[in-house]
Amino acid sequence: MNTSPSSSAALPRIAVLATGGTIAGSAADAANTAGYQAGVIGVAQLLAAVPGLDAIAQIHAEQVASVDSKDMTLALWSTLAQRVNELLASDEIDGVVITHGTDTLEETAYLLHLTVKSAKPCVLTAAMRPATALSADGPLNLLNAVTLAANAAAAGQGVLVAFNNRIHCARDVTKVSTYAVDAFQSPEIGALGWVQDGRVEFQRRALRPHTVDAPFTAAAQWPQVEIVTSYAGVSRAAVEALVAAGVDGFVVAGTGNGSIHGAMQQSLAEAAAKGVAVVRASRVGSGHVMHNGAAKDDALGFVSSGTLNPYKARVLLLLALAAGMTDKAGLQDVFDRY
Ligand code: ASP
Repeated sequence: MNTSPSSSAALPRIAVLATGGTIAGSAADAANTAGYQAGVIGVAQLLAAVPGLDAIAQIHAEQVASVDSKDMTLALWSTLAQRVNELLASDEIDGVVITHGTDTLEETAYLLHLTVKSAKPCVLTAAMRPATALSADGPLNLLNAVTLAANAAAAGQGVLVAFNNRIHCARDVTKVSTYAVDAFQSPEIGALGWVQDGRVEFQRRALRPHTVDAPFTAAAQWPQVEIVTSYAGVSRAAVEALVAAGVDGFVVAGTGNGSIHGAMQQSLAEAAAKGVAVVRASRVGSGHVMHNGAAKDDALGFVSSGTLNPYKARVLLLLALAAGMTDKAGLQDVFDRY
């Protein structure tokens, strides 16, 4: 589907919520793209660097946070989700754009995909180069994000990520490069479409339920869910220490199809028997983790993550546990559905 910008006189009203990240980063000189401080430039300056924005939308700007997204917190997730929901519930706002760091963008995007209760567009964007860099990518990404949020075709598509001219579904997108400007992909599945030169083009829709069709809310009190990784020679120590610390759930970044080294698998089975949720994901980076494949999930008390990578599986497990879903069969249904 191709859609060009609306030519009607009343421009869409888009709220731009800034949270920090490299898009708001500043370095000592323009050639510096690695040694900079993230999250120091304010939203007004970010918007001032984007020519032509006022021809696309009426912008309402808010500085929600100024963090390097490596330091994202669950409390800030709750604040952000609440503010997005307030804005989208208002008759004064037609869509939201969130500027974010790239490091944990995929986690925040999936959290919002499941906790925003509106069909209005909600788009995240970011940058790989600081605002002060030669060829900074932030201004064009922000222009494209606002263009997308202002376009009727983005409504009802869940939370979207606009990055490097592509439109990704929040559930599928992941960061795949430490430095490249083309840093985001949706492995195996691909992007939903493109946004370029004022034009929005969707090629497909996400099929799994999200936003208004998802039963989750960003909690005031979060459970403790940790990610552990399986690898050659891994011990029981990390799992045992976390169980002793009172962890509520584990996501395992397993090898291959979510397989887990025997010693660690035994410690996780013991944790599951005590009521700790255990979700098997994979460290591989693409593909899905099959329920009751090589690992006997039902016998061990484990849940499988399907196509969610470990970081997104953790988001879903946090939301499910916060909603009081602790039964293993029920949790598996949640992972099969969302
Ligand atoms: N550390 C930065 C952040 O996530 C990286 C970036 O935005 O590209 O905030």
